[in-house]
Amino acid sequence: MKAFVYSGQHGELELKEYPSPRPAPHEVLLEVEACGVCRTDLHVIDGELEHPALPVIPGHQIVGRVIAAGEGVTLRRVGDRVGVTWLSMSCGHCRYCRSGRENLCTDAVFTGYTHDGGYAEYAVAEESYTVPIPEGLPSIDAAPLLCAGVIGYRSYTMSCVKETLGIYGFGSAGHLVAQLAVQDGVEVYAFTREGDAEAQELARSVGAVWAGHSRELPPVELSAAIIFASAGELVPQALRAVERGGRVVLGGIHMTAIPSFPYELLWEERSIQSIANCTRNDAVELFKRLEQEPVTPHVTEFAFKNAPAALEALRSGTLAGSAVLRMQPS
Ligand SMILES: [Zn+2]
Ligand SMILES: [Zn+2]
Repeated sequence: MKAFVYSGQHGELELKEYPSPRPAPHEVLLEVEACGVCRTDLHVIDGELEHPALPVIPGHQIVGRVIAAGEGVTLRRVGDRVGVTWLSMSCGHCRYCRSGRENLCTDAVFTGYTHDGGYAEYAVAEESYTVPIPEGLPSIDAAPLLCAGVIGYRSYTMSCVKETLGIYGFGSAGHLVAQLAVQDGVEVYAFTREGDAEAQELARSVGAVWAGHSRELPPVELSAAIIFASAGELVPQALRAVERGGRVVLGGIHMTAIPSFPYELLWEERSIQSIANCTRNDAVELFKRLEQEPVTPHVTEFAFKNAPAALEALRSGTLAGSAVLRMQPS
């Protein structure tokens, strides 16, 4: 099969002819239809995340059709269309796994990082870590829901937002979370890079009441903020913008150093909460919610062979919303 492979040369992704995977017991073999492109893929390829399982195929927002099932598979059938998230597998028996916190499992395996992902024609996934994709939801639109959507949903839930939500870094996750918040009657304030008119326009189009650049203070106090951008200096900035008791949620897997700041910014029961990975339940809850209240991903499609261009677009910030690779029919 054709696959994009990261072999440890920082910043380099090679298109290779690669052996097709075979499903192990309890795994399904997927023919990949679409794979979302996430900032985390850049962190993997740039060597910003430690200990990837090299060589590795990136991509952790996979939508694929089951074309074969390994021994013992009972939940999925050949022909099912399923999604694969960042959480590829957890141990199932540690104290985190036993208490519904499998996202914190120290033996967890991650798609496109420590397990091959979806920048390829085929992928394998443990059946119980796949999520069924509802009929009628195109694969291209489902893909960004699998990380930007699921991690965004987890961040949103953890923000305990009441009336007003700030979103710092208005990309793939940001524009999906904004839609959830608007559905809940929450006012959304979008913070983008300076002069990013396209992201600000996207923010307004999905219902944000205000869009500005991230060094600005919003016109009202925020009851919570979520930071999806990887710039650590946004943490004190967001603390300045939230009200007493407000929470600042850090939704990214990687962040530059957070500058020191006066205690007054945290005082009055403001708090900072990081989000690590996702659980299967996050995905189940999100897809259940979307059945009633769908969101519309703003997707830029790239042909599979143009994965490097998609990553570059993400890196340079020229892309509004979500980037998705569409596999060519073989
Ligand atoms: Zn565990
Ligand atoms: Zn991701």
